[in-house]
Amino acid sequence: MIVDERIVTFINSFETQNSEILEKIEKEALASHVPIIRKEMQSFLKMLLALKEPENILEVGTAVGFSALLMSECVPADCRITTIENYEKRIPLARENFRRAGKEDQIVLIEGDAAQVLKELNGSYDFIFMDAAKGQYIHYLPEVLRLLDKGGVLVSDNVMQGGEVIESRFAVERRNRTIHARMREYLYELKHTKELVTSILPLGDGVAVSVKNSGRTG
Ligand code: SAM
Repeated sequence: MIVDERIVTFINSFETQNSEILEKIEKEALASHVPIIRKEMQSFLKMLLALKEPENILEVGTAVGFSALLMSECVPADCRITTIENYEKRIPLARENFRRAGKEDQIVLIEGDAAQVLKELNGSYDFIFMDAAKGQYIHYLPEVLRLLDKGGVLVSDNVMQGGEVIESRFAVERRNRTIHARMREYLYELKHTKELVTSILPLGDGVAVSVKNSGRTG
């Protein structure tokens, strides 16, 4: 945990309940150790969606569909949500959850490795939520930038790797050094890519929020 636990507990104590179906799916996911977005990230996403009012959302990393469903509840029914997942065990669970929530028409699940799927996508998206394999974000970035509209928002979750990303490379276990280097490179690119304006926030496990230049500035 990168933020003082008491502060997180205090902030979360103000949270209101999600819909009945979301509460159920969250409980089921947590009980079966499926990683889903934390409470802090849930409310942050809700706020960003209220601000942006997207029409076409892309999510990388569906798991069992919790965050896609949460997002679907924050946008009008004609906002399309495309979500990518490659873990066969989770795909049927996500599809079933979309059916349970009556959202099969709004949420499109694409099965496959995000690296490949992103290359093949041709749509344009005004909101992209990155929540898959952290070591791959840097490889997804060129395609994500191609797919993101001007003025579009890119939200990248878990960018602090439980705080490890701030440590020196030598303080990190050898097996984690590649992901450590790649995440630092990703954060550097988010901050130094001319097309993006990015803020890195210590929320949850760290989140980077980027906006693609609308062309109106600089
Ligand atoms: N966004 C989900 C939520 O909050 O409900 C949680 C996503 S979970 C943290 C990350 C998911 O990304 C996992 O289910 C994992 O199988 C998937 N994933 C990891 N690497 C992937 C890849 N290369 N292509 C597609 N999905 C991938």
